[in-house]
This record gives sequence, C-alpha cells and structure tokens, in this order.
Amino acid sequence: MFKTLILSSFFFLSLSQAHARVDMRWFTVAAVVIEDEKTQIMFDPMFTRANLWHWLNFSKLKSDQALVSSVLKDHELNKLNAIFVSHSHFDHSIDAPMVAQLTGATFYVDPSTKIIAEAYKNPGIKTQEVENLKSIQVGNFKITVMKRTHAHIRTLGINFLKGPVSKDFDFNFYDYQMGDTWFYLIEHPEGKILLDQGSEPFSTTVQNFTDKVDVVIQGVANRPSDEATSEGYVKQFSPKIFIPTHFDNFIFSFDPKGSFSYLPGVRLDDVVARLKKDHPDKKIIVPEYGKRIQLFP
Ligand SMILES: [Zn+2]
Repeated sequence: MFKTLILSSFFFLSLSQAHARVDMRWFTVAAVVIEDEKTQIMFDPMFTRANLWHWLNFSKLKSDQALVSSVLKDHELNKLNAIFVSHSHFDHSIDAPMVAQLTGATFYVDPSTKIIAEAYKNPGIKTQEVENLKSIQVGNFKITVMKRTHAHIRTLGINFLKGPVSKDFDFNFYDYQMGDTWFYLIEHPEGKILLDQGSEPFSTTVQNFTDKVDVVIQGVANRPSDEATSEGYVKQFSPKIFIPTHFDNFIFSFDPKGSFSYLPGVRLDDVVARLKKDHPDKKIIVPEYGKRIQLFP
C-alpha cells in the first residue's frame, strides 16, 4: 500500500513535470510576460507614458518608479528573471531599467539600451549584452535573440528617431533613438514561441532555427497590409495560436485597470478578421490587459 502510494506520487510528479503550463500576459503596447511556474520573462515593459511636456521637451522622460512598482505588485510579477526589449524607442524600453532595479532581473541589453540603463546610475540594475543569433537560457526557457530592421514610421512621414542612442543620453524624449531592433524565438520543453513586435516578417532568419512554431506573438502597428500579416509568420510557421500586440494608443495616460484606446489607424478588427478567414484552423487571440492566456500544454 505504502509502496503504491510512493509510486503513484512519483507518477503524478513526473506527469506534472511533463506538462508544465506556460502562460502569456499582455500589459498594453508591446509589454508581454511569458512564464511557467518557476520563471517569468518580460518583454518591452512600458507603463510610464510620455505627456505633452515630454513631447515639447520641457520635462525629462524617466520611468515612474511608484507606478512600475504597483503594477509589478498587482500582477504578482515576483519571479522575473529576465527582461528583453525590441529596441530603444521609449514605447519599448522606458521601464526596463526600473523593472530590473525593482525585481533583480537581468536586463539583456544592446549598446543603445545599455546607455539608457546606465543613465539611471543605479548599481542594482543588472545588465548583460546580447549577441545576434545567440541563445540565452533562463530557467526552462531558451531565448534566441535575432536582429531585424524596424519598419519606417510612415504616419509621421519621416523615419522617426532612427539613430543609435547617444552616449550623452539625458532622458529627453528625443534621446530615445531606435538603436538596433530585435525579435525572439522562445523555446520551452512544452513548445516554441515566436515573438516579434515588428509587423514585417523576417522569416529567413527564423528558418535558421526552426520551420515550425506553436505560438506567434506579433506587433500589428504600422503593418504594410493585413495580407502581409496573414501571409507572414502565420503561414510560414503554422502556429496553433496567433496573438496580436501593439495596437493600443501609448500616447498620454496609462490606466492600471487596463482600459485603452486604439492606436490611430491600427484597424485591429480588420487584421483579426483577415487572419480568421485565411486560417480557420488557428486560434487568433486578442489579449486583454493582465489576463493569462494559456499557451501550453
Ligand atoms: Zn513601438
């Protein structure tokens, strides 16, 4: 009897290990957390917003510590080990150093985001430089860092803030230059996730590592067309789940309760309808602020 009990508990233990749950949560704009029961990884944390004073360059644009700390607490982001950002524009990088400072997580940087992190002059902010096409192991996640180019920000008629971040970065709105742009293949024993906040697919780079993923998380702001999204990663890597991000308006205020308006011209419903029509076998999931989406098993 005792032996059976021990054997069956081993059996259930190994079963639970064989099916570790992996979730994704979205926190507006491109801010995404991917986690299993042991590890949380955050991408593009952005809660602090730029207001008119920042745009006019009358006021410094710095991470709001009280706000970031309350979001981390409200959503139990207490197992964060790693932070990655797509590029150093403020809507992707603004709160990364603060999240690193408050959680002790490592902020994986490139030369531009490293300058932003160091500008806080806080020894509690741990950074490590990434290398193109190299992988980083964080808990059970293996994250491969891939370089891409950023689409032109056409709505402004110019290629907006496209240079590297300058060494004399001083928290002015216009100091948040783009730097390099990155996207990620996230491999877990339960499955593969492709996360790209860029709307134009970079499939050949991904094909160096895999020809199939289980989940695609992709930014839809500034996409060339609905067709480009539908014919891109979703067609080439046949994921079971597609999750659009970067569709909400990040200008002005952030509501910790999660209400938001859409980015002008983003037409989220159109791209979702197109994806559903072209890929009826796949789940197209529009994320809700802070709500868990179960990715695996
Ligand atoms: Zn962006």
